Amino acid sequence: TQVYLNGNFMAPDQARISPLDRGFLFADGVYEVIPAYNGVLFRFDEHLQRLERSLAEIGIHNPHDPAQWRSLCDSLVAHNGGGNLSVYLQITRGAAQKRDHAFPVPPVTPTVFMMTSPVAVPAADSPDTAQGSLAITLDDIRWARCDIKSISLLPNSLLRQQAVEAGAAEAILLRDGFVTEGSASNVFIVRNGTIVTPPKCHAILGGITRDLVVELCVAEGLPVAEQEISESQLRQAEEIWVTSSTREIVPIIQLNNSPVGSGQPGPVWKTVARHYVNFKRRLCGL
Ligand code: PMP
Repeated sequence: TQVYLNGNFMAPDQARISPLDRGFLFADGVYEVIPAYNGVLFRFDEHLQRLERSLAEIGIHNPHDPAQWRSLCDSLVAHNGGGNLSVYLQITRGAAQKRDHAFPVPPVTPTVFMMTSPVAVPAADSPDTAQGSLAITLDDIRWARCDIKSISLLPNSLLRQQAVEAGAAEAILLRDGFVTEGSASNVFIVRNGTIVTPPKCHAILGGITRDLVVELCVAEGLPVAEQEISESQLRQAEEIWVTSSTREIVPIIQLNNSPVGSGQPGPVWKTVARHYVNFKRRLCGL
């Protein structure tokens, strides 16, 4: 395996970063996770646009243009054998001479790091045999700018750990009685036959998978609405799904130890999962 650091591809144990890097000291950076199927990066332009936005929101100059990013990511995928994997990409503000909360003046060179990880075969790839996953609800303890894909993931990490300790795959987060998102995913429910997901705002990450699911539902004429979901609507949902780039669309069959709907992956999920997988296969030549 090869990773990328500041202009070079190398073995992971050859990669060295200064302890003064603001990513290490302050979690001062942003990231992206981009899946590749059959060696083809999936929804690359959308991920890159979100990266641009995250960088702009925290005032880091984008070190590469889209064509350079494309070529770096393609090379990294090729260096790691192609196939199905995800690209993790992180940019920090860089290493300053002195530890100071305020940004270094003049700006220092951002640190760019990329690596790949294998992706597990998602549930959506085989809708008829999918088992479904468990989720619990937790209070959303995160900050007020969850729309920025920040590497500061301590709250997300603590929340996911609580879910794992409860035997669940994901924590669905509630803020002021309404669903925001999962600890590392967006949330959909089916309510009276309509597919509902919370609107994008500062409290949630604008998921690339979320956007694609909404897009596919619209294209297929399935009823879909971007609307707030209250805690009681979540508990009464006919179906609950969580979405992310690496897990695609996961049906949640139990919430806080109570069955969701029939307690099995639902019919609407199966329909949407099929559309998602067909779209992916067409795009990536699978
Ligand atoms: N919300 C959060 C907090 C996440 O960490 C993720 C995955 N990184 C998502 C939503 C899903 O986003 P995407 O579909 O772009 O992977």
